[in-house]
This record gives sequence, C-alpha cells and structure tokens, in this order.
Amino acid sequence: MGPIGPIPIPRAGERATGTFTFAGDPGLEKYDWPYIALAGQVAGPTVLITAGIHAAEYTGIEAAIRLGRTIRPDSVRGTVVIIPVLNRPGFYERSIYVNPEDGDNLNRLFPGKADGSWGERFAHRLLTEIVTRCDHAIDRHAGDLVEDLVPFVIYRETGDPTRDAVIVRMANAYGAAWAVKSAPTGERPGSLYAVATLAGVAAILAESGGRGLLIEEDVERHVRGVTNILKTLGVLSGRVDAKAPTIVKSFDWVRSPVAGMFHCRVRVGQSVKARDLIGDVTDLVGEPIAAITAPVSGVVLFTVTSPAIKKDGLLLAIGAL
Ligand SMILES: [Zn+2]
Repeated sequence: MGPIGPIPIPRAGERATGTFTFAGDPGLEKYDWPYIALAGQVAGPTVLITAGIHAAEYTGIEAAIRLGRTIRPDSVRGTVVIIPVLNRPGFYERSIYVNPEDGDNLNRLFPGKADGSWGERFAHRLLTEIVTRCDHAIDRHAGDLVEDLVPFVIYRETGDPTRDAVIVRMANAYGAAWAVKSAPTGERPGSLYAVATLAGVAAILAESGGRGLLIEEDVERHVRGVTNILKTLGVLSGRVDAKAPTIVKSFDWVRSPVAGMFHCRVRVGQSVKARDLIGDVTDLVGEPIAAITAPVSGVVLFTVTSPAIKKDGLLLAIGAL
C-alpha cells in the first residue's frame, strides 16, 4: 500500500513510527505530527485513530500511543494509522479548548479552507489528504483540563443505511454507557467525526477521562473501546462483549448568564430533573448573581471543574432522557 497523504505506510506485517508535516505551507510546516502506522499481512479496511485535537485531553493521546505500540502488525487485517496528537501547537502549551496559532477550537473548523486561517488550513489538509483516504475513523477525547465527564460516544447518522449500520456498530462496540446522536450544525458545527461521516468515512468520537489526569482506568477504557471497534470491523480477531449505550434525546449545553465564581452542585453521571437547581454563580465578593437550573431532565454528561467562568462560559452538559 502506498502512503496515505504525508504518512508513509510500511511493508505488510510491519509497524512504522515517525513524524510528518504538511509540505508547502510554511505555517503548518513549523510543526511535525507523530504517527504510528501498522500494515497487516492480509487485506482489510483502513482505520484512522486520532486524539489530541483538544491538546490537554491526555487519556485519548496516551491510549492512542499505547494502541500503536501494543497491536501486533501481523495480527492486523488491513491498515491502522494512528495520529496521537492533532493539536500540535497546543500540546506543550497545555492549551485548553483551542489551538494557540489562531485561538480557534480545531474541532469546529472542518471541512476547513485551503487558504484560510492556520486551523482552517490544517483541517482542510487533514481531511482531504488523510481522513478521507480511510474507511473508518475514531477520534478520541476526554474532558478538557478544566472538565470532568462520564464516558460517552458521539456519532451522527447520514441516511445511508449501510454506512449508518457500521457507525452504530462502532459506537456500540466502544462500551460507554451513553451515546449522543448529533447533527453537524447547531452550537457545535465543524467537528471532525461529523464532517468525516458526511465525506463517506464511518466515524465516531469517544470521550473518557478528563481534568488533565492520566487515570489508568480512563486510559484503559479508551484502549479497550478502540480494540473492541477494531474487532467489530474485523481488523483484529476476537469476540466483543460490550453493552450498547443508552442514546440521549438531546445534548444540552448549559452556559452562565454572568461572569463569576461557579459552584457546581451536581456530579458527572448524576440524574437531574428539569428546573432542579444544579449550581450557582456569585460575584468575586460572594454576592449571589445567578442560580443555574437544569433545562431538561436527564444525566449530567460533563461539568467544568474550574469555578472561574466568563459571561456565556460553559458550565456543564445534560443528556436528555
Ligand atoms: Zn475534546
């Protein structure tokens, strides 16, 4: 098999590691991206495993590296390409949410633009040169440096029953308790998994861990979940015994009407009822300035862990039930 865009693929039965860049673009060429490529001895699908599009979501990054080092290439059917850190500008800067080159959230910029900002050009080249050359894609996330979450997967259906069935099988194999079915528009357009799906790649996003902590259980959940997906796709052999997730009806993000100190009164995984008091905001001398109530009944999927909140700042999200 020839290279996948800028990523060289080794001979059948071998593993290759190294770095690549996006040639011809001086802004992008300042960085190199790590990759691990595994070429099977038997033909099969090409699977892309990515992490670190949010640079401080370390459990996904660690799990990607671990999978790359532990999967034996001679046990693979097809090809597995792993990019452990997509947001290279943000990694050593410990950037929260955004890419320091332009201050944008890279997971809102797809499909990107050939002549756009740094992030738009990165999104365009990643999508056209690498992602769309793959049959399947799994993008790993966690709660960011200032977020905690309960594990969940996100995917969107396309209306193509064959592709949708594959996407649902991938999402079910991951083994999370919760799933969000999301449209590529609304508050969070431009996500890698959603745009990849629309471009013909069976893609999902998986969340495990958070707060900048490499908690082994959270890393291992990502490793196990992706291993199960690879088994489901026939890339690895073995049985999958994952329970299908509960699909929430909507994914409601709660923002603060004011700037201040946020006191969160719920925990991730907790059930809440619509209009329950779930937190409050005080000013910086302690005066109460906002009561935060649940917009819907459901399960708390993530919360921020930092109390420092700007006006309209994100507080938490509820998966409606
Ligand atoms: Zn993320």
